This record gives sequence, C-alpha cells and structure tokens, in this order.
Amino acid sequence: MHKYIIMGPQGCGKGTQAKLLADSFDLFHISVGEIFRWNIKVHTKLAARIKRIMATGRLVPDEIVEEIVNRRLTEHDWNYGFILDGFPRNAAQAEFFLESYDVDAVIHIDVPDSVVRQRVMARRQCSQCGLDYNLMHHRPVVETVCDVCGGTLVTRDDDSEEALAKRLHDYNTKTLPTLELFQKKELVIHADGTQSIEHVQNEIREKLNLPPD
Ligand SMILES: [Zn+2]
Repeated sequence: MHKYIIMGPQGCGKGTQAKLLADSFDLFHISVGEIFRWNIKVHTKLAARIKRIMATGRLVPDEIVEEIVNRRLTEHDWNYGFILDGFPRNAAQAEFFLESYDVDAVIHIDVPDSVVRQRVMARRQCSQCGLDYNLMHHRPVVETVCDVCGGTLVTRDDDSEEALAKRLHDYNTKTLPTLELFQKKELVIHADGTQSIEHVQNEIREKLNLPPD
C-alpha cells in the first residue's frame, strides 16, 4: 500500500501528477479542493459553513479541513493507498496528519514563484460553459473565444495579480515550512515542476522507486 502527500504551489501541476499516479497504482486521489467544490455543488451543510467563512475573506479553519480529510479517509475505499492533494497547508495540519496516519512519502513539486505567476496569469475560463484554457499550453483558436461554445473567455476573479500574490505568500510562509517537518522524518522527495508533465511524472516515480510510466 502506498500513502503519499503531494505538495507544491498553485499552478505547479500537482493535480495532474496526482491523477497519473492514482490511475497507474490504483491509489485513491483525495483533492481537498475538489471535495470543497463537490460540497458546494450539492449544497451540503458543510458547504454553507465554508461559504460563510470564505465570504468574509478568511481561510477555511484547520478543524474544518481536518474534518473533511478525516471523513474521506475513514470511508475505506483506498485499498491500495491514497494520494492526498491540497493538505496539509500548515504545520498544525501536518502534525495532526502525522499523528493519525503513516505516510510513505511527501512529493514536493518545486516551481519558482515567477513561473507560477506566468502560468496562473495565462489562465482563462469560458464565461458560458466554464471550460478552462491556458494561453501557454491549451490555447483557444481565437484568444478571447471558447472553441466549444463560442462564449467569451475571462480571467477568474481569484486569478488577479493581487490574489495570487497573497496565495503565494501564504504558501511560502505557511505550507512550505511543513516540508521541514516531513524532512525530519526523511519523507520528502523533490521534483522539478518546470519540466514537462511526462518528465515530472517519471522523476517522481524514479525517486519513489516505482516503475516508469
Ligand atoms: Zn465555452
């Protein structure tokens, strides 16, 4: 059984890398962001709490995030292991997690802030059908028009320079230091996230002693 955590700043491609690993090794991919979005989509009580908090501009508190992750992990459908994406985001969450679960490795995808900025600023979303584009590697035929439905492509509100700078600051000051905690337990492997998807995937597999893709 493999139990992994995957970490990296926004735009580092960790969701894609986690999915590739999950598909190959039958791991259960737990994306905290996706769980949040699912709760909001089906209007759960939890979603109402999360929305109220986010509307005031605050981060979702540790207890709620821990509750979400715990609840998901106690639903035993991860026979071959799991890969956790989007958690822990700070030292308190990391300590909580290490007390509750054995982790085999923490995969750190390293991408400099300047590259994160370039990638995030190139993101566009269709205002009609919601499809995601990226002007760097998933370009629409016409820069401002959705290929599928002809809707206008817009930048998401949370992709402003200002919002991104705040998220990067949070990541660098709160999330990144948790790596030290995992490093002390010799759990961390690093991958160069500026490389292609295939390259990053194989670097991860090599360092985890897993067969190549
Ligand atoms: Zn569209």
